[in-house]
Amino acid sequence: MARYTGAVCRLCRREGTKLFLKGDRCYSEKCAFDRRPYAPGQHGQGRLRPSNYREQLREKQKVKRIYGLLERQFRLYFERADQMKGVTGLNLLSLLELRLDNTVYRMGMASSRAEARQLVRHNHFTVNGKRVNIPSFQVRSGDIVEVKERSRKVARIASSLEGAEGRPRMSWLEVDAKLFRGTVRSAPVREELTLPINEQLIVELYSK
Ligand code: SF4
Repeated sequence: MARYTGAVCRLCRREGTKLFLKGDRCYSEKCAFDRRPYAPGQHGQGRLRPSNYREQLREKQKVKRIYGLLERQFRLYFERADQMKGVTGLNLLSLLELRLDNTVYRMGMASSRAEARQLVRHNHFTVNGKRVNIPSFQVRSGDIVEVKERSRKVARIASSLEGAEGRPRMSWLEVDAKLFRGTVRSAPVREELTLPINEQLIVELYSK
């Protein structure tokens, strides 16, 4: 699947918030948004006229960028969420959170979603003992995600797991860093998705 390959810090600056797309760099003083907290480009510091449409569009772009998706893939997620029972916005976030690349990132086995995506593509993980190299693979409650035996020496995975020990854990995931393994306990908990996302605005945008 295609993916965005441009400069990612521009995306944070465009959305006016830190999207944490670059792993450890996002927590350091090198963060581009901390240094230049305004939109990129010649008119980045100009004033924008507020509009509902603009707000909804930016919210959708922000979520797409957090999860590293392009428009078509994101739209398909929305359509799927819309067909499911329950609240569409929550369904959408739940589907996105349960992607394998996001789950690997949330388990602390990669320092960013982009890195998790690459590690999954490079065959470093199994789900319930079977090799899976599709970043969009949907995990379910009870699934066990594990780093393959021969991949446990990969420096990026080992250092991410080490660094993740100090980070808050998601209650819907259980991780055993010593065994390089994590279990999906349940569906994601909305309260723990602390990035400033208003999913209702996306539902309004796509419902027009
Ligand atoms: Fe965004 Fe991270 Fe770049 Fe900061 S360092 S602008 S949070 S991607």
